[in-house]
Amino acid sequence: MCRGSRLALVFDLGHHPHSDDFVEPERLKREMHVFPLRLVSCKDCGLLQIDYLVNPDILYKTNYVYESSVTATGRAHYADMARHSVERFRIQKNNLVIDIGSNVGVLLQGFKDAGMRVLGIDPADIPAKKAIAEGIPTIIDYFTKAVAEDIVAKHGTARIITGTNVFAHLHDIDSAVEGMKHILASDGVIVIEAPYALPLIEHLEYDTIYHQHVGYLSVKPMQAYFKRFGLELFDVMPQDIHGGTVRYYVGHVGAHPIISSVDEYIKKEEAFGLYDTERLKRFADEVKAQRIALIGMLQDLKRSGKRIVAISTPAKGNTLLNYCNIDGAYLEYATEKSALKVGKYTPGTLLKIEPDAKLLSDQPDYALILAWNFAKEIMANNEEYKKRGGKFIIPIPKPRII
Ligand SMILES: [Zn+2]
Repeated sequence: MCRGSRLALVFDLGHHPHSDDFVEPERLKREMHVFPLRLVSCKDCGLLQIDYLVNPDILYKTNYVYESSVTATGRAHYADMARHSVERFRIQKNNLVIDIGSNVGVLLQGFKDAGMRVLGIDPADIPAKKAIAEGIPTIIDYFTKAVAEDIVAKHGTARIITGTNVFAHLHDIDSAVEGMKHILASDGVIVIEAPYALPLIEHLEYDTIYHQHVGYLSVKPMQAYFKRFGLELFDVMPQDIHGGTVRYYVGHVGAHPIISSVDEYIKKEEAFGLYDTERLKRFADEVKAQRIALIGMLQDLKRSGKRIVAISTPAKGNTLLNYCNIDGAYLEYATEKSALKVGKYTPGTLLKIEPDAKLLSDQPDYALILAWNFAKEIMANNEEYKKRGGKFIIPIPKPRII
């Protein structure tokens, strides 16, 4: 991702199908495509990344079923992000706001409601068409320098460019950052949110690793990266969503005062050992122990005759299921809220995906929460299941029963 050539292997997860490749019934008897999934660390800049890139057309053009507006927690987060950006940078009505990887347009809706001109860009056509239908203009394409030039010619420069959980997905990151620089107004701000590599390592959140996530960002390599393009990282803020996310603020060099948070984060990362091979090796060992603990827990439950299902089927859940080899031998089926996934099967492990309501009508003994970063919301939504004696399993950071 950073174009570094000295990459050290941190952790090999084996071969995985891509995490959003939910299988329609008619594909059950066909071959399954799998790709190597390995976490490596760049010896030059420290960026954690994967070293095998799946063709983005396979990842995004077909079958891409992630919808960012599905959870209430997600919706509230994006509404707050829009409000906060408008206030902090005094964005005016009619200023242009661009969201890269805009999905169904949930973040842009907040800016639109505040009176800004908005424009989304996303190569995944199912969510993008949904955004357009809901009044959020969206370009269905990858974001590149060429697309950026086209946007400036038609719409002018942008005061805000956002990218939430997209930066880590960019295959041609150089072209995308050049494009952002081209679109950004002189006093404009790029606001990026991405899963933070430090909690991933610290809390064993290895399920964040899948082929759509090319890089696992942290502040030190991000600062160096933007510098290379004449941009400046000027603030870093922690966010509570997705089990540890960081928000990066980037502007043209000298356009915004640099907040002390940038240096503080880098010091914290270095003290933790995020760029230290021995510390990263420990992470790999701990993940292996976590897998043994989770499988052991499920085996004990099965031996005592308990029925177990999975609840929620996020992309990350498929990394966990495939890495731990948890299939129909342990779980009877998976349930899911998103209608786009119901009726399909989980990639690799082939668990049938049923509507969430089945949890209550069927009342299995245990429900493994794969979207554990939304565990609170999921458990609150399924209070009745718990009242009737159902139990939840939260797999990460340590498998536990609630
Ligand atoms: Zn590098």
